[in-house]
Amino acid sequence: MTPQSIGDALIRKRRGFRRRIVDWFRREARDVPWRGTKDPYAVWVAEIALQQTRVEQGTPYITRFLQRFPTVQSLARADIDEVLKLWEGLGYYARARHRHKAARQSAGNGGTLPDSVEGLLALPGIGRYTAGAIASIAYDAPVPVLDGNVKRVLARLMDYDASIDTSDADTVMWRTMDALVKGATPGDFNQGMMELGAQVCSPKNPACERCPVVTYCAAHAAETVSSRPVRREKARVPHHQIVVAAIERRGRYLLGRRPEDGLLGGLWEFPGGKVKSGENHEQALKREAREELGVTIAVGGLIASVDHAYSHFKVTLHVYRCALTSGTPAARVHTKLRWTAPAEFSQFAFPKANHKFLHLLARKKHG
Ligand code: SF4
Repeated sequence: MTPQSIGDALIRKRRGFRRRIVDWFRREARDVPWRGTKDPYAVWVAEIALQQTRVEQGTPYITRFLQRFPTVQSLARADIDEVLKLWEGLGYYARARHRHKAARQSAGNGGTLPDSVEGLLALPGIGRYTAGAIASIAYDAPVPVLDGNVKRVLARLMDYDASIDTSDADTVMWRTMDALVKGATPGDFNQGMMELGAQVCSPKNPACERCPVVTYCAAHAAETVSSRPVRREKARVPHHQIVVAAIERRGRYLLGRRPEDGLLGGLWEFPGGKVKSGENHEQALKREAREELGVTIAVGGLIASVDHAYSHFKVTLHVYRCALTSGTPAARVHTKLRWTAPAEFSQFAFPKANHKFLHLLARKKHG
């Protein structure tokens, strides 16, 4: 049998399959504060956070966010700096910015989110997965979701023997989920599939002995579970060397706010950038100060070298103590500049990697 025909067989048996998934979900779902809510706004906040982190790490962020901004209107009224500060550490800041924009758009619509996938897709930052999650969980619409967990579960249920990182695989799996989700309580079914992937059908060593749908699983029957899903070989992740200038003047450091659009948009950082081929760290720092701020600097000692991994690349940040030697800093690439004492750092949203050395700057002041 081909994976496609196995998928079709699963669709034919969907009543029993759905019942097992939904019953299991209602019995075994982890207790998280927003579960059980039909509030589309809360579902939206939770689903966006959970696309970028695991439930255990995401829960405190979601709880804090919903306490501070309990409604679409309260988020729409908020200052973007406060929104980014609350999201700080979770990464993917574009999602926080998009959500803020979408809230402002929806606030004009009486503060409710659209109840159709099409309406939700028209909002900034909402893709097919998030639209399906909101529509099915909050509005009981029989529409599918497909995230990494669901893809892995389906690949095993269907014994999908080609790479799942292709548009063909996406087409087959969306189509399968679209057929399976039809029926009562589509929100519980979708959440059940995601939860099964998170709790039982895990990437390594799935707990098939605890699986409520083991009798439907083609990979289990064929003893191919450990080789499913098939993944495309990952490209090597680039690793950038970055110099960071901690420019100090009378106990304050110069911070710049990154432009709204683009990586880490709207967050605050120290001046600096990639080391170019043939440059040493001092040359790179002086060039960056010239290009970004229009100033010349003296480069002092190395404060720290810290590693950080983003989703598509890695960086090592080399942080140096620096002082202005001529010129007045101008915001050439940042939207704002601020001289800031270490005691005030906590008021600013920084990229996560910065938290690995911020305390060292504070220490010097008090040391
Ligand atoms: Fe996953 Fe095992 Fe269940 Fe198949 S039987 S869906 S591999 S946990």
